[in-house]
Amino acid sequence: PLITAQIAPVDAIPDAEFYKVEAILRPWRVQQVSSALLQMGIRGVTVSDVRGFGAQGGSTERHGGSEFSEDKLVAKVKMEIVVSKDQVEFVIDKIIEEASTGEIGDGKIFLIPVADVIRVRTGERGEKAERMTGGHADMSATTST
Ligand code: ATP
Ligand code: GLN
Repeated sequence: PLITAQIAPVDAIPDAEFYKVEAILRPWRVQQVSSALLQMGIRGVTVSDVRGFGAQGGSTERHGGSEFSEDKLVAKVKMEIVVSKDQVEFVIDKIIEEASTGEIGDGKIFLIPVADVIRVRTGERGEKAERMTGGHADMSATTST
């Protein structure tokens, strides 16, 4: 306990019941990623068109010049997927599997702890709100028993 107390709180990975997987990806790979997620029972996904720069900078896309914009910002898609903690690694692995080309500009994934989930229609909170009917949890419950 004395040793762990010396670890600065900022070094601890925030623990949460739910996490948001936020992936910045190549626009032309998003369809492939979202259908793969749907196949594994991930049904709640939010997608936005965004622009940004990273190591890829303003260099032209190897697989599609249309992604290069005049002002050096590259068109990307942001996918936001809130899942329960035990589903996080599956989602991350699947995104990498479907989105990577090995070339600079494949994107990045951020993992963000989520304090609560509230379904607007019913006012449900927590696990009840996060669970989707026929979603990943239902699918894995069916296959494991
Ligand atoms: P309802 O049963 O009332 O339809 P729902 O949980 O299916 O509730 P919706 O209201 O259909 O949710 O979802 C509205 C929008 O919220 C979706 O189009 C999607 O953009 C976003 N969304 C829902 N669930 C998630 C999630 N788990 N992660 C990311 N985005 C989500
Ligand atoms: N965790 C939810 C479920 O198993 C799915 C979450 C999502 O689709 N983003 O039903």
